[in-house]
Amino acid sequence: MKLLENKTALITGASRGIGRGIATSFAKQGANIAFTYNASVEAAQALEKELEAYGIKAKGYQSNAANYDAAQQLAADVLKEFGSIDVLINNAGITKDNLLMRISEEDFDSVIEVNLKSVFNLTKAVIRPMMKQRGGSIINMSSVVGLKGNAGQANYAASKAGILGFTKSVALELGSRNIRCNTIAPGFIETEMTEKLNPEVVQGWRDSIPLKRGGTAEDVANACVFLASDMSAYITGQTLSVDGGMLT
Ligand code: NAP
Repeated sequence: MKLLENKTALITGASRGIGRGIATSFAKQGANIAFTYNASVEAAQALEKELEAYGIKAKGYQSNAANYDAAQQLAADVLKEFGSIDVLINNAGITKDNLLMRISEEDFDSVIEVNLKSVFNLTKAVIRPMMKQRGGSIINMSSVVGLKGNAGQANYAASKAGILGFTKSVALELGSRNIRCNTIAPGFIETEMTEKLNPEVVQGWRDSIPLKRGGTAEDVANACVFLASDMSAYITGQTLSVDGGMLT
């Protein structure tokens, strides 16, 4: 028996990086996958085909996570197509790094809207159907930076720390409805994005991590499988760090 059989998961920002890894791991565990992206139409179409090869139903939706109305429409469309939403993974996120002296109001607002308001938008859209279904698991993607802060990332850190408070509040409000809500805080995860960085800097990061390597999208995806599955039925309101011991 696969861990996510008979469940439908809605994953935001799955055209690449961590979200893509989550979609693939979920498909392997038997989940049907609705996923979103912002602009990567071709990558999304390729992912749809790749996921379907695991014998599950998969569909990509171009939907701006920062837009409230678009999120409500997305949830309605997914429900119509898939019949249920059992797992929501709020993964879509962006960075607009700069020293506070240089962060523009626009770059502060856009990071908060894509990273934090998006979590409100879709969580609000799925809780009614989850209540009707008498259960659901919501997983929000924070970051080690949300726990610790980071110079040059005040906007990003604020958005990721906001997710922690939001997650705990949802867990408290909706626990009685059997809706669980948890956060994952990845550390340094090596994706296409990090391939472009200075190799010496990246090696320095690896050396400073107790497990002596960067994480993979699959490392994060495995934690998501656990929190989405009934294996974690008694876990809510928690933050699970997937960081190789970085914050320990
Ligand atoms: P990534 O490779 O840059 O991918 C971001 C994904 O989000 C893409 O699929 C992108 O779609 C989508 N997206 C961006 N803006 C969107 C919007 N407005 N509406 C809908 N989708 C949108 O990022 P990643 O490294 O995989 O990170 C995924 C999540 O993990 C983020 O929340 C990030 O903050 C968090 N995280 C990452 C790390 C790390 O080391 N990588 C560490 C801690 C936390 P398009 O392809 O269409 O642009």
